Amino acid sequence: MKLIESVDEMQQLSLQTRGEGKSIALVPTMGYLHAGHGSLMHEGRKRCDLLVTSIFVNPAQFGAGEDLDKYPRDMERDRAIAAAEGVDVIFAPGAGEMYPSGFQTWVDVDRLSLPLCGASRPGHFRGVTTVVCKLFSIVQPTLALFGMKDYQQLAVIRRMTADLNLPVEIVGMPIVREIDGLAMSSRNAYLSPENRIKALCLSRAIQSALKAYRGGERDVAALDRIAREQIVNAKGALIDYLEFRNGASLELQQQADDLTLLALAVKIGTTRLIDNCMLGDDSQKVKR
Ligand code: AMP
Repeated sequence: MKLIESVDEMQQLSLQTRGEGKSIALVPTMGYLHAGHGSLMHEGRKRCDLLVTSIFVNPAQFGAGEDLDKYPRDMERDRAIAAAEGVDVIFAPGAGEMYPSGFQTWVDVDRLSLPLCGASRPGHFRGVTTVVCKLFSIVQPTLALFGMKDYQQLAVIRRMTADLNLPVEIVGMPIVREIDGLAMSSRNAYLSPENRIKALCLSRAIQSALKAYRGGERDVAALDRIAREQIVNAKGALIDYLEFRNGASLELQQQADDLTLLALAVKIGTTRLIDNCMLGDDSQKVKR
C-alpha cells in the first residue's frame, strides 16, 4: 500500500492507471477509520482494479467554533485498517496542498444543501462538494463510495455529479452500526462512557419511529412525537433537528410513506451526532 501526499503524484498515478484501461474506486474519508469506512473499502475493492482512500480533514467543511482542531487523527491505525481492507493507495494531502494560496473556486449545490445539516452548519456542504469535486479531478475515479450515514451528503454529491456531468458512478452504502445500535462515527471517540450510553437515544428514536410506521402510523406529527420522546428521555441530549422529509427532494412531509427519510442530529454533551433511516427500508435493522 502506497501513501501519497502530493496532488500531482496522485493525479499522475490515476491518469496512468485509467490510461491502461483500469478502473479506480475512491473512498473519501476524514480518517480515524472504523468498520463503516471499512464497508465502503470492501465494496470498492470488489468493484475496481485500483482502490484509493483519501484521508483529509477538510477545513472548508468545518464552521467557526466546530471541532476541526480536535477532530481525532491516527494515521498509523488508519494505515493498518486500510491495508487490511486491501487499499492500494492512501491519498493524504495537507491542507496547503488542497487549498494553496490564491484558491477561490467553490462548488455549491443549491436547494438540497439548505435544510438539515445545511441549516445547522452554514457553508458545510459547500466545503464538502468543493473537496469531493477536487478529489474526483485528482483521483479520476470510475466509482466513488459514500455512506448513507451522511444521507444528505450523499444526496448532494449525487446531485453535483449529475449536474456537472462528472463521469463517476456514485455508490451509496448502508449504515454500519455498533452491536447496540449506535451508528459508527469517528466522533463517537469523543463520548464519555456515560454519554456513550445516552447516545443510544438516536437509534432508539429511529427504531420507535420504524415500529410505529410498520404498525400503520402515517401521520408525521405522531411519528415525530414518538421519535422525540426517546431523545427527551435521555437526559442531557439536545435535539438539533429531527425531521421527516422526502428521501429524494428532502422536502418536509406531513404524511409518511416508504420513501420518507427520518433524519436527526442530536447533541450529547458537546458531541453532535447524526443518524437517519428510510421508513420503508426493511434492511435498517441493527447490525454490525
Ligand atoms: P467521514 O470520515 O466521517 O467523513 O466518513 C467518510 C465516509 O464514510 C462517508 O461517506 C460516510 O458517510 C461514511 N461513513 C461514516 N460512518 C459510516 C457508517 N457508520 N456506516 C457507513 N458509512 C459510514
